[in-house]
Amino acid sequence: MKKILIYCSLMMLASLSSFAQNEKSSGGHGNNPWYSNTDTAKLPVSNAEWKKVLSADLYAVAREKDTERPFTGKYWKSSTKGTYYCAVCGNLLFRSDAKFASSCGWPSFYEPSRKEAVRYQNDNSFLTHRTEVLCGRCDSHLGHIFDDGPPPTHQRFCMNSVSLDFEPDGNLLMTP
Ligand code: FE
Repeated sequence: MKKILIYCSLMMLASLSSFAQNEKSSGGHGNNPWYSNTDTAKLPVSNAEWKKVLSADLYAVAREKDTERPFTGKYWKSSTKGTYYCAVCGNLLFRSDAKFASSCGWPSFYEPSRKEAVRYQNDNSFLTHRTEVLCGRCDSHLGHIFDDGPPPTHQRFCMNSVSLDFEPDGNLLMTP
């Protein structure tokens, strides 16, 4: 009986833990209660709250619009098949099918996984006019979009690796 109680308690703790982290690409996000690969509801979370749960590098790019140095990120030359999620909130952003080899030094895609995955806003910083790409769920800065991409869209979503989580195809869920 005692063994059954201990087993049930452990299973309950494990399920609570997986609920908090919400699925596949949650590795390292255990302290982030908003992280989910399936919930697409907008997140009205303040920067003060994000600062408590994000790494300094991710916070600087995602919430303060910093840019990682080219050719330094994890994904700029990766061609592994899989799915890219927002590293801040877990929102599904890109499939590797839309990724292309770009010489710019940042991971580049020709289209998002779905229209609502991202949103856009004008960026007139550094005396230029660019279009900023933000996560459609948490409004975190992801990068910029340019009109020099390959067919079929001819667009280049030029993203910061640090703003992305990657889940290779075929990985099994780690839930009980
Ligand atoms: Fe996000």
